[in-house]
Amino acid sequence: MNRPTVAMTVAGSDSGGGAGLQADLHTFAAFGVHGTTAVTAVTVQNTVGVTGVHEIPPQIVADQIASVVGDLRPTAVKTGMLASAPIIEAIATAFREHGIGRGGTIPLVVDPVCASMHGDPLLRADALAALRDLFALATVVTPNLDEAALLVGTRDQPDAARALLALGAEHALVKGGHGTGPRSRDLLTDGVTSWWLDAERIETGNTHGSGDTLAAAIAARLAGGDTLPDAVAVAKRYVTRAVATSYSVGAGHGPVGHPT
Ligand code: PLP
Repeated sequence: MNRPTVAMTVAGSDSGGGAGLQADLHTFAAFGVHGTTAVTAVTVQNTVGVTGVHEIPPQIVADQIASVVGDLRPTAVKTGMLASAPIIEAIATAFREHGIGRGGTIPLVVDPVCASMHGDPLLRADALAALRDLFALATVVTPNLDEAALLVGTRDQPDAARALLALGAEHALVKGGHGTGPRSRDLLTDGVTSWWLDAERIETGNTHGSGDTLAAAIAARLAGGDTLPDAVAVAKRYVTRAVATSYSVGAGHGPVGHPT
């Protein structure tokens, strides 16, 4: 029987189609993985910005996870925009119940989405503590420098990684894409071994959805059985190609591409 690899994203919808669960599903498809979703919030969004957020009731988010896991049996899960503390708490309970994340059998990628590239909030300010608590379940947590500053108070990549591991994450991937200089360098560490992942910085305004795409690519490869360092290395190469194939659509920041 021809059963595809299945992955799940727990994330918000971007009506503009560039980021959020839409980017995740494009990425899963590019890796040949069947993508499933638990929607946390519907954003009213285009390439210019976010003008509204409708949060899904926490129980409905948890029910989507239970429904998908009970039937389609994803072999990796990622989280993106989680919107509020009650949603994060419902998700954490569902993850523990269904063996998702540390202590379970299904690897978990936590992309700690806090705001869009335009600065529109995608997480309530009072939900930071709940998001930090979720890191204890993460196989890997993938902040950019702005998220690292907000969550652990530093933009220094080794210091931020240490703080994320202290919160219970198995691996930290602190991304350097929001820095400056000709190279985009990400630090991956499990506290014992560290890997610097280096790529050329591609100057473009069209990077909408790049963070989601990286985390989804990691999840897609973990779902297929890669080790975490291998999954991250493949995902980093993929997101570099995604940024290289980004395009303009709408009046604002265009999305990354999803090359196969
Ligand atoms: N909208 C949603 C629903 C998202 O999940 C994200 C990022 O995770 C964004 C927007 C922002 O994407 P970007 O910062 O790449 O513009």
